[in-house]
Amino acid sequence: MSAKIIDGKAIAASIRQDMVDEVAQLKKEGITPGLAVVIVGDDPASKVYVGQKEKGCAQVGIYSEKYALPADTSEEELLALVSKLNIDDKINGILVQLPLPKQIDEKKILYAISPVKDVDGFHPENIGKLVIGEDAFLPCTPHGIMVLLKHAGIDLRGKEAVVVGRSNIVGKPISLMLLSKSATVTICHSKTKDLSFHTKRADVLVAAVGKPEMIKGEMVKDGVIVIDVGVNRLESGKLVGDVEFESVSKKALVITPVPGGVGPMTITMLLKNTIKAAKMQA
Ligand code: NAP
Repeated sequence: MSAKIIDGKAIAASIRQDMVDEVAQLKKEGITPGLAVVIVGDDPASKVYVGQKEKGCAQVGIYSEKYALPADTSEEELLALVSKLNIDDKINGILVQLPLPKQIDEKKILYAISPVKDVDGFHPENIGKLVIGEDAFLPCTPHGIMVLLKHAGIDLRGKEAVVVGRSNIVGKPISLMLLSKSATVTICHSKTKDLSFHTKRADVLVAAVGKPEMIKGEMVKDGVIVIDVGVNRLESGKLVGDVEFESVSKKALVITPVPGGVGPMTITMLLKNTIKAAKMQA
C-alpha cells in the first residue's frame, strides 16, 4: 500500500486565498482585522515564527503590529503592554510568542490576554469552552489538524484515535477535538507502558512528541490515518517529523508529510481566528 499524502501547504494556500476575499469584503464594511504579535528576546526559532505570522497577515490583508521587546523585559512591562493591547480598537487579536524569558511567568501573561482577543486559544476560558463544546477560539495547531482531516474526507465517528503527546498546545486539545467528532480517543505520554500496543490499534494516529521518527512502521496497522505534528531538525539539517515516513507511509492509507503537512496550517488558523475576533468585536 502507498499512502495518500495530505498536502497541508496546498490546503493552507487555498484557505488563505478565500481569506483574501473575506478580508476585502470586511474592509468594505469598515472592519479591518488587526493582530498584535509580541516577541520578547532573540530566540531564532521564535523570530522565524513571528516573521511568518506577519507575512501571513500581509498576504490576506490583516493589519498587524509587531512588538519586539528586549530579553530583559520585566513581567510588569509585558503585562502593561498586554493591558494596552486589550483595549486597543485597532487590535482584534493578541499573540505573545512563546517561550518567554525565565523572569516572566508565561501563565500570568496568557491569563492577562482578554479571552475575546486570545487568537492562540490558550486562555483557560477558551480551553474550558472547548472542553464543554461551546464556540471558542481553538488552539491553532490542533484546529489545523481537524481542517486537514476534513479536507481528506475522513469521518471520525467511532474511529479509534490514538494521540501520542499530552501538551496543552497540541496533545490535549486535539484529543478533545477528536472526541467532539465522536472518535474513541486514547492519549499516550512518556509514562505510557506499552506505546506500540496503543499505536497498533489506531485507525487515526496523531504524533505530537518532538522525538525524530519515533513512530516506526511496525508500530502501526495497515490502513492507518497518520497526522505527524513533530518538527525535528536532525544534525544533518534535515527536517523530520515524529513519524518515520519511509516505513509508516507504506502501511498508511493517508499521511501528512514533514515539512508541508500540519505546519502550514498552524498560521492559517491564527489568521482565521483573527478574522473571527474582528467579526465578533465589530
Ligand atoms: P511538548 O510540550 O514537549 O510535549 C511532548 C509530549 O510528548 C509530552 O506530553 C510527553 O509526555 C510526550 N512524550 C515524550 N516522550 C514520549 C515517549 N517516549 N512516548 C510517548 N510520549 C512521549 O511538545 P509539543 O509542544 O506538544 O510539541 C510536540 C511536537 O510538535 C514538537 O516536535 C513540536 O516542535 C511540534 N509542533 C509543531 C507545530 C506545528 O505547527 N507544526 C506546533 C506545535 C508543536 P509527558 O507529558 O509525560 O512528558
